Amino acid sequence: METLILIIVLAVFFFVAVVAGTGWLLLVRPRRLRRGQPPAEVVSPPEAPAEPELRTQRPEAAESAQAVITPTAPPRVPAQPPAPEIEKPPPSAGRLVRLRDRLSRSQSSVGSVLLGLLSRDRLDDDTWDEIEEVLITADVGVVPARQIVDDLRTKVKVLGVRGVDEVRALLRTELITQIGEDMDRTVHTDRREGLPAVVLMVGVNGTGKTTTAGKLARALVGDGKTVLLGAADTFRAAAADQLQTWGERVGARTVRADRDEADPASVAFDAVREGTELKVDVVLVDTAGRLHTKTGLMDELGKVKRVIERRAPVEEVLLVLDATTGQNGLRQARVFAEVVDITGIVLTKLDGTAKGGIVIAVQRELGVPVKLVGLGEGPDDLAPFDPATFVDAILAA
Ligand code: GDP
Repeated sequence: METLILIIVLAVFFFVAVVAGTGWLLLVRPRRLRRGQPPAEVVSPPEAPAEPELRTQRPEAAESAQAVITPTAPPRVPAQPPAPEIEKPPPSAGRLVRLRDRLSRSQSSVGSVLLGLLSRDRLDDDTWDEIEEVLITADVGVVPARQIVDDLRTKVKVLGVRGVDEVRALLRTELITQIGEDMDRTVHTDRREGLPAVVLMVGVNGTGKTTTAGKLARALVGDGKTVLLGAADTFRAAAADQLQTWGERVGARTVRADRDEADPASVAFDAVREGTELKVDVVLVDTAGRLHTKTGLMDELGKVKRVIERRAPVEEVLLVLDATTGQNGLRQARVFAEVVDITGIVLTKLDGTAKGGIVIAVQRELGVPVKLVGLGEGPDDLAPFDPATFVDAILAA
């Protein structure tokens, strides 16, 4: 009996052991099969992004990454616009020769009419009057036109000049003399006594002042100078953007106001201060050109110049004039000359008018030389002025 009980106990014990073992195997096996995968309750987030600022900017994204595994992470760095490519502009020398065709196209009608009249068999009073009229129409000005006619008349009589080539040579000499071959037309941009050369651009809005400042910066960079631009035309919001774009193309920094209608003198002062610290060769300052009130203009430009001169000498005050505006341009020139000491004239848009005689008229009016001419809207369409090349283009027909 005892043996029977022992057998039954052993049998029950064996049965329980087998059932328990199988159950344990059943419980353990699935876990073994999933080995290598992290268990759900201990899922860790993907590698945290390295940039701490990304976490600070988007805390909620970092938090949700703790709980849910997202297959695609947001871009870490916002896309940057590509840095503008810095151009290498050509040097300024020889540009007028390169742009001679533009001058010939716009001016040679005057030259051919003059040559035609001067080549007539009989040069009577009427013909001389006609010559004078052509010169006046080309904006040479009444007094200089009379002087040119008088000189030519005397020479033709004395020398007995006749053939077209002789007449052309005579007219060429006369026009070059009137324009003035020995005036100093250099744009002075050399550093002096450890300070940058400051160039002030003045003129009425619309004449091409800002464009000219940009073109001039390019030309100076092309000549191996370092340039900083000052956007002191604070009344036209677009002017600073325009100037900055020109500057960026050639790697020149632009100092500009941090708000609209800021004080132009303070922008000019900051530009010169920064230019001095950065040891650039030239600080080119673009100014506003509103002619509504002459007194306002006078105050403003005068102040800009005075404030700049506390830091560095103003080497050049370049007056930008639109060659297509004729007598109106001369009136503007007079007003500006009363306000600041102009050292040079830039005649823009000479590609769009046959009135190149304005070169003679404006120099006479102001007693300062035309130093640069604009011959198109292209970035390198600004050239140092040279009387002989200019006259040759007029007489190219
Ligand atoms: P600002 O108001 O005096 O600064 O004038 P902008 O610099 O804005 O120029 C006015 C317009 O004149 C722009 O369309 C320029 O492209 C144009 N311009 C400037 N210089 C010349 C030039 O020499 N020839 C031609 N054809 N257009 C020019």
